[in-house]
This record gives sequence, C-alpha cells and structure tokens, in this order.
Amino acid sequence: MLASSHPTHDAFPMDTRIDTDCVIAGGGPAGLMLGLLLARQGLDVTVVEKHADFLRDFRGDTIHPSTQELLGEIGLLDEFLARPHADMSRVTLSWHGTELTLADFSHLPTSRKVMTFMPQWDFLDLLAGAAERFPGFRLLRSTRLDDVVREDGRIVGVTGAGPDGTIEVRARLVVDASGRDSELRAAAGLTPVGVAAAMDVLWFRVPKTAGDHHPFIQAGAGMVITIDRTDFFQSAHVIPAGTWTGSADDLRRMKERLGRISARLGEATADLVPEDVHLLRVRLERLRRWHVDGLLCIGDSAHAMSPAGGVGINLAIQDAVATARILGPVLAQRVPRPADLRRVQRRRAWPVLVTQAVQRRLQGPVLSSSDAGSPLPRALRMLRDHPRLTRITGRFVGIGARPEHPG
Ligand SMILES: Cc1cc2nc3c(=O)[nH]c(=O)nc-3n(C[C@H](O)[C@H](O)[C@H](O)COP(=O)(O)OP(=O)(O)OC[C@H]3O[C@@H](n4cnc5c(N)ncnc54)[C@H](O)[C@@H]3O)c2cc1C
Repeated sequence: MLASSHPTHDAFPMDTRIDTDCVIAGGGPAGLMLGLLLARQGLDVTVVEKHADFLRDFRGDTIHPSTQELLGEIGLLDEFLARPHADMSRVTLSWHGTELTLADFSHLPTSRKVMTFMPQWDFLDLLAGAAERFPGFRLLRSTRLDDVVREDGRIVGVTGAGPDGTIEVRARLVVDASGRDSELRAAAGLTPVGVAAAMDVLWFRVPKTAGDHHPFIQAGAGMVITIDRTDFFQSAHVIPAGTWTGSADDLRRMKERLGRISARLGEATADLVPEDVHLLRVRLERLRRWHVDGLLCIGDSAHAMSPAGGVGINLAIQDAVATARILGPVLAQRVPRPADLRRVQRRRAWPVLVTQAVQRRLQGPVLSSSDAGSPLPRALRMLRDHPRLTRITGRFVGIGARPEHPG
C-alpha cells in the first residue's frame, strides 16, 4: 500500500491508503451531515460515495422543519433558502376530490414552520459544499466500499475501489451510512430484522404543461404523491407489496386506479409505457445492534424506513447529529470503545421504534381503496373531525419523536 494522507479528491494512484479520524460510507443525508458536523469540530473526516454525483431520484425531497432548525443552528439556513425550493405549511390529502389536512406545521416551536421541498441532489450538494470549507473534510466520489479491515478482532478501516484503483481507508471509527442495502453492514456481520412492509412504490414522471397542478397527496384507490419538479411532475404511487410485475396488464390496472383517484391524473398518464414506471421496493427493517467494535451503523443502514409520513431523511439526519455530538469529542482524543457506540444506539433506538411503529400503522390507510362516495377510512375521519390532532401529526412529521441539536 502507498501511504497518502491527503490525496486530491477525485484522482487516486493505484492502491491508495488514507488515514483519517472517521471514515463514513455513503454520501446520503446521514453520511454528509455527519461528515459536515465532525469536520466542523476540527476532525479529519473521509466520506466515501459510490456515485459520481447526487443526481438520484429515489429518495424524497422533504426537508423537515427540525432539519431547517438545525441548518439555522450551524449557519446554513440562508444558503439553503437561496436554493430553489417550495414551502408547505400543511400536508393535505385529496380523497376523491375532498381535501383534508393530515399534518399542520403552523404551530411548531421552530423558526420555520414549514416542510420544504428541495430536490435531494440540491440539498446534498449544499451539505457537501459546506463541509468542503473545512480543511479536514474529504469526499471521495465514484468510490465503492465493499469490505472492512480487521485487526485483533476490531474493525480499523474499509476497502473498496475508486476510479483509479483500489483504496483502503484506516480510521479510528468506521460509520456505515450507506443505506438499506449496505454491503459493509453485511461484511461487519450485522443483519437487520424485518418489520412487515406491506407496500411498494411505483415511480414515474407525469408530463407537465403550463398552469398544470396536481394535489400533493391524492388517495381513494391506493395513494399517489405528486411532486412538482418545474418541468415535469414526479409521481409515487403506493401499491400492495409484490403486486407489480411490469406487464402491460399491470400498467393498465395502474392507469385505471390513477383514473379513479383523479380523472386528470388518469388522462395525464395515459401514454405511459411499462419502461416509464420504476418499481421501488419498500423495506421496514432495523438492526438489533447498530455497532460492532470499530463500526457504527446510522440512518437507513441501521433502520430502513418506509416512505410513509416522509420522515426517513429527518431520522437519518438526527442520527448523524446525535453521533457527531456523542462521538466527536471522543474521536478527538481516542479510539471510541464499544460503550461509546452503544450510547448512540441508546439515544436513537427509541425514536426509530416509535416511528417505524407509526409507519406500520399507516400502511392500511395508505393502501386502502374505495369508490367515490364510500366512507373515509377511520384514521382520516378522526383527523377531519378533530382538527387539533393535525397539530400532533404536524409535530410528529415536522420534528420527529426526538429532535437532536449539535450541542
Ligand atoms: C420509495 C421511497 C421514497 C421515499 N421518500 C421519502 C420522502 O419523501 N421523505 C423522507 O424523509 N424519506 C423518504 N424515504 C426514506 C428515505 O429515502 C431514507 O430514509 C433516507 O434516504 C435515508 O438516508 P441515509 O443517508 O441513511 O441513506 P441513503 O439516502 O440511502 O444514502 C446512502 C448513500 O450511500 C451510498 N452507498 C451505498 N452503498 C455504498 C457503498 N458500498 N460504498 C459507497 N457508497 C455507498 C448511496 O449511493 C447513497 O448515496 C423514501 C424511501 C423510499 C424507499
């Protein structure tokens, strides 16, 4: 191995070795936020992302009020708001044309009482740009990590391959933030347990013409969420798990359902062909133990979240904030011990349990199907009849079960 402690970001000689305080697998919301917060504490941090850019479509665009509060706390809110975004003070649902409020953010104890929509590539770009201002931060793109390095039973680093060859990164701590299909988690011997996920998501673009508008959430024959991406609409249609094979018949049934939910959406999707529709499998899983000696999992790697309630990004970011606050000062002085890693899991496991339990309960109403005129599902009736409940749902979605602050 060649020793090289600070190579340039995108060009490595073959067989590069980097020594750093903390290596983070995955440049998603959890990994980049953790990288930024540790670099801000003066640590040497290496984030490794397998893709060349952040232009992936499948992660959701929601930036929660509590995440915006955090951005204010670390001095990034103005930069965040300078990027194109759209604010929503209430989440509404259109049920066969009747509009209901699902969550109201207007009473939250946060400076911004709105959920903000920003394509995730813009948000991640903001975090990466802010982190790169700190001398200890390094982001390796196009580099896939595939194994851990062990010494005397402890994980002391990771290996992978980048654009110019193999790479080994040695660190006091490995944080796996590489999402629900993590290879490192498996290499470390950690296996998640499933909490039934009854749904999958069909992901497709809907053409947009000037002045077009579709409600954000529409339901009645399953649910469809439509995000305005300026030039087109991005739609996510929730279906029962395992029911999509990609056949022409499946597509016909999908269009029929969309037409039952909204005649306009039915018309707008009439020309879709099977290749336009991507199946996203939803998983609701978590690790019993988030760590082994030398490695800690956070975000979806520790607990894969379903899109229900749109809270997975918030939870991943809050894991990162708690990890930086608890382990940053330790990393500055010494190698973290298993008891240090356990403190992070103790802090974050409870909000994950609560949130996944709520996500599981939401699956029924999300998938329920009816004709126009049939009664609203019970959960929606309660929100309609007791509007103050929408402040509680607003708090749950907008802030989460246990908000975190950098300290
Ligand atoms: C269909 C669907 C829609 C969703 N919609 C929303 C929503 O609207 N709002 C919301 O809050 N949540 C949503 N979620 C949940 C949300 O996407 C996740 O909870 C969140 O992205 C978790 O963030 P993360 O940083 O832990 O992982 P990820 O976002 O998965 O990021 C992991 C990163 O690691 C990289 N990576 C993976 N493997 C490697 C490797 N071997 N080496 C290097 N890099 C690697 C990946 O490229 C990726 O950039 C949705 C989930 C699904 C399935």
